[in-house]
Amino acid sequence: MILLNPGPVNLSDRVRQALLHPDLCHREKEFSQLQEDIRERLLKVYNLDPQIWTAVLLTGSGTAAVEAMISSLIPENGKLLVIENGVYGERISRMAQIHDIKAIALHHSWVEAIDLDALRQYLDQNRDLTHVAIIHHETTTGRLNSIAQIATICQEYQLKILVDTVSSFGAETIDFEGWQITACAATANKCLHGVPGTSFVILRSEALVSGYQRSLYLDLNTYHQQQEKGATPFTQSVQTFYALAEALQELEDEGGQQSRYQLYCDRINLVRSGLKNIGIKPLLPDNCSSVVLNAFYLPENLIYDTFHDHLKTNGYIIYSGQGDLAPSIFRISTMGAIPQNALERLITVIFQGLS
Ligand SMILES: *Cc1c(COP(=O)(O)O)cnc(C)c1O
Repeated sequence: MILLNPGPVNLSDRVRQALLHPDLCHREKEFSQLQEDIRERLLKVYNLDPQIWTAVLLTGSGTAAVEAMISSLIPENGKLLVIENGVYGERISRMAQIHDIKAIALHHSWVEAIDLDALRQYLDQNRDLTHVAIIHHETTTGRLNSIAQIATICQEYQLKILVDTVSSFGAETIDFEGWQITACAATANKCLHGVPGTSFVILRSEALVSGYQRSLYLDLNTYHQQQEKGATPFTQSVQTFYALAEALQELEDEGGQQSRYQLYCDRINLVRSGLKNIGIKPLLPDNCSSVVLNAFYLPENLIYDTFHDHLKTNGYIIYSGQGDLAPSIFRISTMGAIPQNALERLITVIFQGLS
């Protein structure tokens, strides 16, 4: 089965084999080495200076990493601005609410680009803000939010920038220093092609807040202190750590993040042009879309479930739209170990599904 959903992804043989490593106790030095190896490799994906940046590994899905970032890095007297234009931005607002973090939202509909003038106005009116949270690739629609422009504005107001890079880390450009990001959260099983179960936060070491804790399990400070000593506060998902280490080695062997970007670029161009040729239109213009996932309008009088089942019968899993978009769109992701000819055949199979 070819998975065209935004994670979990199809595994390469070498990543799948890595799951079969011998059993290991998370209190042994072999585990420390494995954990340290992953933390170092994660920084290397974007050539980050280990003097400034640190990676914290968690057992949990992408949402765990985002919630750890949001609940750990905003001090008690901090105030967060959440920029929303999709499901994942709205999810961060919900996290802030649950953790009793002072927060306001700059809301947009799911198909809108972030309004920079409105952002500036909002920042002028709310001078007590300390942090901003933003989604890099809003997987709801496939929009790549323009963090560069947003970050420039946020820097003027001296806000610390927290980014959900769950569906972009490893493939899209992330300019950690240029954008002056404070932290980002991501997962093993999207653009890094690992197994679900491990997620992580990459942050400036100086951003850790000590002496104040909102969560027992998701506190970054607790993890960071232990991981710096080669330990872990709780049981980690050992097998998925092996798989992530292998996936990171594989990424490096294939030429790193920029090569992965190019690979996804080739894949999405093939899908976009193939679908265009058979009359299927994209939800968003190419120039504001990611290379990781795109959304397309369902052809008229085609029901999503019927379309999905036709594709599944032929070996492909596509992804539905969420919320109000569910009846009118479908989504295709380019992540994972997808054989080269699979996307060409996909277009043929979709075409057959139209008649
Ligand atoms: C997938 C995704 C998440 C959540 O990931 P889970 O692994 O399902 O918890 C968060 N943010 C974005 C942008 C995503 O694409």
